[in-house]
Amino acid sequence: MNIAIVGGGWAGIAAAITLAGKVKLTLFEAGRTLGGRARSIGRTNTHGIALDNGQHILLGAYRETLGLMQEIGVAPEAHLRRLPLRIQDASGFRLALPRLPHPFNLFWGLFGARKIGLREKWDTARWMKSRRFVVPPEADVSVAQWLHKAGQNGVLSRHLWEPLCLAALNTPARYASAHVFGCVLRESFGNSASGATDLLLPRGALSGLLPDPAQKWLDARGVVIRLRERIHALRPEGDRWQLVSGRGAETFDRIILTVAPWHLPPLLAELPRAAFPSPPEDAEPIATLYCDYPKDIALPYPLRLLDGAHGGWLVDRGGGLLAAALSGHGAWEDLPDETLAAAIHADICAEVSRSLALPPYQVIREKRATFSCRPGLPRCPQTLPWPGLFIAGDHTLPDYPATLESATRSGRMSAHLCLGTHSGVCAKTADAP
Ligand SMILES: Cc1cc2nc3c(=O)[nH]c(=O)nc-3n(C[C@H](O)[C@H](O)[C@H](O)COP(=O)(O)OP(=O)(O)OC[C@H]3O[C@@H](n4cnc5c(N)ncnc54)[C@H](O)[C@@H]3O)c2cc1C
Repeated sequence: MNIAIVGGGWAGIAAAITLAGKVKLTLFEAGRTLGGRARSIGRTNTHGIALDNGQHILLGAYRETLGLMQEIGVAPEAHLRRLPLRIQDASGFRLALPRLPHPFNLFWGLFGARKIGLREKWDTARWMKSRRFVVPPEADVSVAQWLHKAGQNGVLSRHLWEPLCLAALNTPARYASAHVFGCVLRESFGNSASGATDLLLPRGALSGLLPDPAQKWLDARGVVIRLRERIHALRPEGDRWQLVSGRGAETFDRIILTVAPWHLPPLLAELPRAAFPSPPEDAEPIATLYCDYPKDIALPYPLRLLDGAHGGWLVDRGGGLLAAALSGHGAWEDLPDETLAAAIHADICAEVSRSLALPPYQVIREKRATFSCRPGLPRCPQTLPWPGLFIAGDHTLPDYPATLESATRSGRMSAHLCLGTHSGVCAKTADAP
């Protein structure tokens, strides 16, 4: 069987690893490297630390992603710093989960949290226990509405749930999907697997986690990787498929499209569109500000919630490099880089209680970082009404936001669908209802 994968992001890589050695496989990637929206950009900071297209944070619950790394010989613990979840900001709010079995870690963390009254802690504990973060898809509302209805209007809403929603869904709580946020909370806070809520911070370049080692691994298994080759069109040809690139047309038995949702329409243009839901169109941005402080500048804990006008998360990359990530649409989008950097630098000075000069910095803006994860958003299915054509990518799984985990999970599933070996087992964690 001759299969083509279009797109070499984490979904395309996951599909390729699953199919390698089983079929004749070609991977087409328009860019210069594999990795897509999660890759190193080939630039370093002034201390020589490699920079990525955006600061990425993984979770202990990223089962598929971590499994994929292990499968190709990358030891997650060598490349990722594992930390127990701790959220704190300049207001004095602090919630830290201890290393205890689930659910004791949650309740211990909640009752030990600072800057929250006992009444709010008690109400929240009862809500978490009785509701288990379940929002049925047919009753989907915004996260803000869901929290309000649950009586979560206090400190935890502003300092925990809303920032977590923005970090996980890259969509502000006022219009993010409560159903998807509930699924994320169940897979982390509601997951009894040890370390599911842990934060995993890349120790070095993001491409070193998967894209670069995967390229070598796939090469060694005879997978043809065609970089800098954009597919312009896709056409049915009998029961096979023709792909058209600048180098001409080629025919394959099966195709897996793993491109971002906004790159799908031109590829599907020659198929009757009424036959399946359109991919999500609205996107949310992310900006990452990398600041090169003197090497002795370090955060007491490597992750910090910024409590300034633009919010955001601050990650200590070591060696004086601090990365601030601003997610979702907001006022920050209209600011020029200099103004944005000065504002975030002021927040950082408040965090480290030091008065510092603005250091060398770089701002990387991804205008279409992820799809906008709104209530009731229809998703493009992984199987289409035509045999031999499959779709994967971070936008395809209805219960998931756009993350590395949803990308790798969908990539794996598309490969199994393609081979006819899909059992549905990797669609949900054991704890998901
Ligand atoms: C700045 C930023 C920060 C993020 N932070 C986090 C985080 O902390 N944690 C987390 O889990 N997730 C995070 N994400 C989300 C995560 O990076 C994405 O969900 C994931 O990388 C998407 O992978 P994908 O393979 O589905 O899509 P993509 O990465 O978009 O891959 C699609 C690939 O297809 C290629 N392509 C497109 N059209 C064609 C064509 N016609 N022919 C050939 N190739 C084509 C593209 O070049 C691309 O390489 C972040 C994303 C960004 C941008």
